[in-house]
Amino acid sequence: MNWTRDGIRLLERLWKEGLTTAEIGRRLGMSKNAIVGKAHRLVLPPRPSPIRRKPEVVIDRLPGPACQWPHGDPGDPEFRFCGKRAVSGKPYCGEHYLRAYVGVTPVRDVNAA
Ligand SMILES: [Zn+2]
Repeated sequence: MNWTRDGIRLLERLWKEGLTTAEIGRRLGMSKNAIVGKAHRLVLPPRPSPIRRKPEVVIDRLPGPACQWPHGDPGDPEFRFCGKRAVSGKPYCGEHYLRAYVGVTPVRDVNAA
């Protein structure tokens, strides 16, 4: 895999814009894994989720405790934590707090009348 200076600049720009690794790979004519590996070697900063959000939520990192929700497999170079602002006193952002604690609700007793 040959990375030109222009290719690296384009990767850095598209990475900052928040494009998915798959989309960056398509634009550069490379695999998603090649993009992930290069971004990891360049130590590019974590990005907001590629899921479209309102512009005010797209702010990269907010001050204060960061969400510890894991994304991916810990052995994978793409592995990262969510990093959004955590709900006060909780380890997760609002979205992941709901996902983490929604399963705590007791299952309804199917034998109850
Ligand atoms: Zn989160």
